[in-house]
Amino acid sequence: MKKRILITGGAGFIGSHLCKRLLDEGNEVISLDNYFTGSKDNIAPLLSNPYFEAIRHDVTMPYFIEVDEIYNLACPASPIHYQFNAIKTVKTSVMGAINMLGLAKRLNIKILQASTSEVYGDPIIHPQTESYWGNVNPIGIRSCYDEGKRCAETLFMDYHRMNDVQIKIIRIFNTYGPNMHPNDGRVVSNFIIQALNNQDITLYGDGSQTRSFQYVDDLVEGMIKMMGSPNDTIGPINMGNPNEFSIRELAERVIALTGSKSKIIFLPLPSDDPKQRKPDIDLAKSALNWEPKIQLEEGLKKTIAYFKSIT
Ligand code: NAD
Ligand code: UDP
Repeated sequence: MKKRILITGGAGFIGSHLCKRLLDEGNEVISLDNYFTGSKDNIAPLLSNPYFEAIRHDVTMPYFIEVDEIYNLACPASPIHYQFNAIKTVKTSVMGAINMLGLAKRLNIKILQASTSEVYGDPIIHPQTESYWGNVNPIGIRSCYDEGKRCAETLFMDYHRMNDVQIKIIRIFNTYGPNMHPNDGRVVSNFIIQALNNQDITLYGDGSQTRSFQYVDDLVEGMIKMMGSPNDTIGPINMGNPNEFSIRELAERVIALTGSKSKIIFLPLPSDDPKQRKPDIDLAKSALNWEPKIQLEEGLKKTIAYFKSIT
């Protein structure tokens, strides 16, 4: 059955893939975005579809519309963008959640929150399970994002407990793929662009810190499964690829796959940079019958092809 679906942050990296997938499945999709880090280029191919609407709006302000489901993605996700205006980042997470939860409450509809592995901070438990409460510095340069997202989870749970709002919370681990903002400083896009231009690869710290990289198509599949899950499946549920790599290994793989002449250089590690990150996805496997299918080499090849096509 065709649904009318609201996606905040629909012009961003993940949002644009989600808009496309939900349109392809025959739904009507409305993207709500202030274009801070998103781009009209990401959604330009969708504009010819009469069932797609792109609305410029800031989620820190309420919005009134009639829809069947909400995916709440609006929030800058890369450290340089979320630190650009840290106060605005907190407002986007917290006031955006309040405004979208209010909308879901009035309409009595399901709402999914794009939370993050950053709620675990610099984790002491490895791999991270959903029951782990995390190790977040509340006053550091990353806290506008981490604590904003933690507060959004709190709001989702309290709207659920107090107002019976049907919520779904997913904790997304590092995700990459086409439509990533070329200048947002995230490691996969940085390394690919540097390698394609034979520039130095900027490794922060000694490169021994780890991340687990998920290709965007796997995430989108998981998000849709989560939205379609029974009402008592509210999460939080981790969504990520458990294959863990050091950042140095990532640099070496990107150099090899691009055939680049780039050299690795070492720069200072930003403060509060988590040392390790790997999702435990047992809950996603059992509750959603979901697990990622695209491994790093295949995903990197697709992402390299994308960045080649836009440069
Ligand atoms: P992105 O920056 O590409 O997308 C975010 C979108 O939100 C952009 O289109 C931006 O313009 C929009 N936006 C920002 N502030 C807004 C506001 N006040 N009002 C309306 N729109 C606003 O980032 P992304 O990687 O696509 O991330 C999407 C969501 O997934 C974010 O909530 C992010 O926290 C979460 N997430 C992403 C990752 C990842 O690895 N990409 C990991 C964990 C969580
Ligand atoms: N990183 C790096 N070089 C870069 C960009 C990032 O070495 O040019 C490192 C960064 O310090 C971190 C990891 O790569 O340890 C992932 O960074 P990203 O900003 O992509 O995501 P996050 O830190 O939020 O997981």
